[in-house]
Amino acid sequence: MPQLGFGVWQVPDDEATTAVALALEAGYRSIDTAAFYENETGTGKALADSGIAREELFVTTKLFNSEQGYDSTLRAFDASIDKLGLDYVDLYLIHWPCPDRNSYLDTYKAFEKLYADGRVKAIGVSNFLPEHLERLIDATSVVPAVNQIELHPQLQQRELREFHAERGIATEAWSPLGQGKGLLEVPAIVAIAQKHGRTPAQVVLRWHVQIGNVVIPKSVTPSRIKENFDVFGFELDTEDMAAIGALNEDRRLGGHPNEVN
Ligand code: NAD
Repeated sequence: MPQLGFGVWQVPDDEATTAVALALEAGYRSIDTAAFYENETGTGKALADSGIAREELFVTTKLFNSEQGYDSTLRAFDASIDKLGLDYVDLYLIHWPCPDRNSYLDTYKAFEKLYADGRVKAIGVSNFLPEHLERLIDATSVVPAVNQIELHPQLQQRELREFHAERGIATEAWSPLGQGKGLLEVPAIVAIAQKHGRTPAQVVLRWHVQIGNVVIPKSVTPSRIKENFDVFGFELDTEDMAAIGALNEDRRLGGHPNEVN
């Protein structure tokens, strides 16, 4: 899985075609969408139009909460793959655990069937807490490849990252730029950006890369799409990493995994 991908939450279907096309042109090969984003059709169109070989692309989509359950998951997967215009996806994620629905185990069993049938190359989850992961791992046979969680310098998720590392689960960061709200103006980040002649967004993405996260920034602005992909030509030093490490506030921008239904 590429460590740096492109996210398309809140991008309308028709704009997704343009945004994903720009991202592919800039060099991204991993695209993160979801049934809930209602832009699988537009995303799939850009993938097809790009002429890039299927095996060079890494496409992630997610099963939405209302479709949890064994049979409904299989139906929802068919709908997603139809919209994307693909034969398989590289990674399929359960979007939220929704513990009140008590159906993520049945959902995951359908994921295991899709995996065994070769219709998805890897299966994983999103927004799972250790308690959900433990229950899932105990009751099923394929350890989730990925847990995609909210993670940025103001919500560093150290314990959950450690938990993932112990079990061989990749940590994928959503809202890696803190949705661009305030994080990119934090003085410590601005100072590090000036020191390296980079932008605050590049510094934050570089921090993710250096702590080992998979990262999927979103933008619809052509220059930012390029800028966010250009984070492999410099390195943050120990001092920079410590300064960013000190910014954690355990501050969530999105919902709590036990509360989203
Ligand atoms: P993000 O942290 O990627 O921030 C995106 C916003 O930051 C943009 O809309 C723009 O306002 C700003 N921005 C982007 N690049 C910039 C730059 N170079 N300079 C200045 N500002 C810049 O936020 P996100 O979209 O919430 O998260 C990224 C992706 O993560 C989503 O598109 C989606 O694919 C995924 N996601 C998943 C979940 C989940 O529940 N699994 C939830 C939210 C997001």
